[in-house]
Amino acid sequence: MFGNLKEYLVKELQELESQNLYKHERIIESPQSAEIIVKGKKVLNFCANNYLGLSSHPELIKAAHDAIDKRGFGLSSVRFICGTQDIHKELEEKIAKFLGMEDAILFCSCFDANGALFEPLFSEEDAILTDALNHASIIDGIRLSKAQRWIYNHSDMRDVEETDPTTGKKVKGLERCLKEAKERGSRFMVIATDSVFSMDGDIAKLDEICDLAEKYGALVMLDESHSSGFMGKHGRGVHELYNVMDRVDIITTTFGKALGGASGGCIAAHKPIVDWMRNKARPYLFSNTLPPAVVGATIKCLDILTKSTELRDKLEANTKRFRSEMNAAGFDIIPSEHPITPIMFRKYENCSELAVKFADRMLEEGIYVTAFSYPVVPRGKDRIRVQISASHSDEHLTKAISAFIKIGKELKMI
Ligand SMILES: *Cc1c(COP(=O)(O)O)cnc(C)c1O
Repeated sequence: MFGNLKEYLVKELQELESQNLYKHERIIESPQSAEIIVKGKKVLNFCANNYLGLSSHPELIKAAHDAIDKRGFGLSSVRFICGTQDIHKELEEKIAKFLGMEDAILFCSCFDANGALFEPLFSEEDAILTDALNHASIIDGIRLSKAQRWIYNHSDMRDVEETDPTTGKKVKGLERCLKEAKERGSRFMVIATDSVFSMDGDIAKLDEICDLAEKYGALVMLDESHSSGFMGKHGRGVHELYNVMDRVDIITTTFGKALGGASGGCIAAHKPIVDWMRNKARPYLFSNTLPPAVVGATIKCLDILTKSTELRDKLEANTKRFRSEMNAAGFDIIPSEHPITPIMFRKYENCSELAVKFADRMLEEGIYVTAFSYPVVPRGKDRIRVQISASHSDEHLTKAISAFIKIGKELKMI
């Protein structure tokens, strides 16, 4: 039976390989940290979502051990049958409070949270307005609902429709989409956006989005996966950074990045929305509960972040230093205040090969970074995406910046 499919897959896989699109995984032989072991060699990691350095933090590891000792390994159940422990309720209260929302509901990942969110809330009479560069899980979640969909040009707030010069396709700004959705007589409207877009590290124009939402009577849904724990004065997220904490209706986020780095996620929102999710969200009703170890460690993570802003302050200082020294060295960096720092190769010929070669040379120098090329990023927008962490010491940063400068000169980029 497998014959035809096998032939097809082998050919397609070879095609991927020949186009340099096959995803090869590098194997790490140590815990996730600023320093990791790859092929027996110690290297500095500059491409993890370990923004606050909590993935292997001793207090989180201890909390995970404690939770296993006191609440066991697993629950063998979904939440509503016999999968809810006291610690699950405690985490829901703590994450809702941290994010400044009324209530929260846990999922095994933020992918699940986004997959769960739209289908129970929005149907044919409703409109979802979504940024063209939103995360795959938001796109999939929206596909599962029967609502009408408007995709607006990335971070384009305007009341316009125009032709994109690079693709030749017609694109619309958010306000134009809102007008169309309103004219259609939509019952509910919701604007859905990432808080931070992972390829460029650019931040959603959340203040303008909230203004437009108010003007047209739409809800605001924000995925804070790349900002929970460190953006804003207390690390609550981009809604804190923009001072619009009371104007966002729904937040989804992951515990798999800054907030510990293991897995899990949540929807935090007005209480009736969360109650509705508990009754209707399919990945919640038909999938296992979060394991106690993850719950215990994530509670500890929130306790640490509520007590002190030391880690997010360190991350901010590291990000400022890295960005300013790399700019001064002459590298082409997309401006942002986010720890995602894309070093662009668009000014150079053969930018794809150059980016890959650069990343390989960096590894030889003991710095682990990854090159991103088409189709992960648009053609000609090849880059090395550096992610800064609070766990990087001053020496780590010095070593990485020196290596960038050394190889940048070697490859005649600077
Ligand atoms: C990483 C990410 C997710 C997925 O989070 P998981 O918990 O790993 O499933 C969802 N949304 C955005 C914006 C992300 O960056």
